[in-house]
Amino acid sequence: MKIHGWGNFPFVDSEVKYSSDYSKIQDYILKQNQVIPSGLFRSYGDSALAEHTFSSLRLKRFLKFDLENGVLATEAGVSFAEINEVTIPQGWFLPVTPGTKFVTVGGAIASDVHGKNHHKSGTFGEFVNRFKLMLSDGSILNCSKLENPELYHATIGGMGLTGIILEAEFNLQKIRTSVIEQKTLKIRNLDELLAKFEEFSDFTYSVSWFDTSAHGKNAGRALLYLGEHSKSNEFNLDYKSKGKLIDLPFNFPNFSTNSAFLNLANKAYFAKEFKREKNFTTNFDTFYYPLDAIHNWNRVYGKRGFAQYQFVIPFENAAENLKKVLSVIEKYGQTSFVTVLKVFGESNENYLSFPKKGYTLAMDFPISRKSLEMFDMLDKIIASADGRLYLTKDSRMSAEFFQAGYPNLYKFREIKSKYDPNNKFNSLQSIRLGI
Ligand SMILES: Cc1cc2nc3c(=O)[nH]c(=O)nc-3n(C[C@H](O)[C@H](O)[C@H](O)COP(=O)(O)OP(=O)(O)OC[C@H]3O[C@@H](n4cnc5c(N)ncnc54)[C@H](O)[C@@H]3O)c2cc1C
Repeated sequence: MKIHGWGNFPFVDSEVKYSSDYSKIQDYILKQNQVIPSGLFRSYGDSALAEHTFSSLRLKRFLKFDLENGVLATEAGVSFAEINEVTIPQGWFLPVTPGTKFVTVGGAIASDVHGKNHHKSGTFGEFVNRFKLMLSDGSILNCSKLENPELYHATIGGMGLTGIILEAEFNLQKIRTSVIEQKTLKIRNLDELLAKFEEFSDFTYSVSWFDTSAHGKNAGRALLYLGEHSKSNEFNLDYKSKGKLIDLPFNFPNFSTNSAFLNLANKAYFAKEFKREKNFTTNFDTFYYPLDAIHNWNRVYGKRGFAQYQFVIPFENAAENLKKVLSVIEKYGQTSFVTVLKVFGESNENYLSFPKKGYTLAMDFPISRKSLEMFDMLDKIIASADGRLYLTKDSRMSAEFFQAGYPNLYKFREIKSKYDPNNKFNSLQSIRLGI
């Protein structure tokens, strides 16, 4: 079958194997020369793509839920959407969640995903106590900070390249209600936005949507979303996962991705907020997962697909570097609609984990000759700012740029060659990047 990531670029013919039986998975792995694990394919590029893919989507069991201490163990194919249904009504919530709930536990560990609270809580992987990993020889190892710690740090953020995560145990955070108290600020430009992130750094959750159609003195105008878990007695723990509100059944025509259309969409989105500041309460799904309301929204970008360009750069000279990025986008006449700026806290010990202290900006652009050329220009700015790109979003960066941005790659390679000496676990991405 043809498989692809969320960006619909690239596509590859793949034989996808499903199984819930560990001994059958073992037999399968032993027979393969090459395989990559996959989950719900919410990675944007080619990290879960290969000619042979093992899908975790039949590994669906909940194994343990310690209600007193908020410890959950599940198999790797359980999704965050399924976890929310079970744990929120019991007063426990994921400690870290990405901007979609349609990710599996295995995928979240392999990408070491971050959420709107990275500056306070770090990544999802930092809450993982232990997991079981199937290696290239079919053996199954327990990994934790104490048991096989190097494999533990290589696998969290390791993009499926060390083996198949079968099951994992992780800690949840206690919540009193399923309601978020939200503050939305309308911001005039980039300097004001960075100042507001600093001013409101005590908020547990912060994220901004950024208008890339604005230039000159308005460049970087944004909506800043801040949130806290409500503790008010007015609310309870009722939670019903919101289904899709709109379904896009086909790819949109190309006009929807041209810059004039996207410029208008950006302006309209910024204009929808009238007030400089708004305070209100909202539910979890609307706050954490706004894009999940539109099923298959990735089809908006048409048949050619799109790439999400997500980088992190240190705080030092950040305003200047972000302005350089915006001016390159303007020069190439490109506009992104889903544009998200967040603050990252400290990096962790996982060898290929993406976050490090600074700002991260994610932008979506349709694939075209022009946008691919623009990405190469942006890479130069990010490289000279000592930044890097997020593997789970990438479909096109060069091996040199990747290797310069990930200084612990050599440690990862040592562990990979020890546990996967024949390089059985590889993806289109790992081959392209020489991992
Ligand atoms: C709308 C949207 C918003 C997003 N927001 C964020 C965000 O805020 N923060 C963030 O960090 N990410 C975000 N992402 C990216 C997403 O969280 C990651 O790509 C995540 O890894 C996807 O999980 P998945 O189950 O779909 O895995 P897949 O996309 O199928 O696979 C991703 C990687 O995990 C590996 N993998 C999958 N299952 C296993 C397994 N069982 N064992 C070993 N390796 C495995 C694959 O080999 C691959 O390298 C977003 C994605 C979308 C579409």
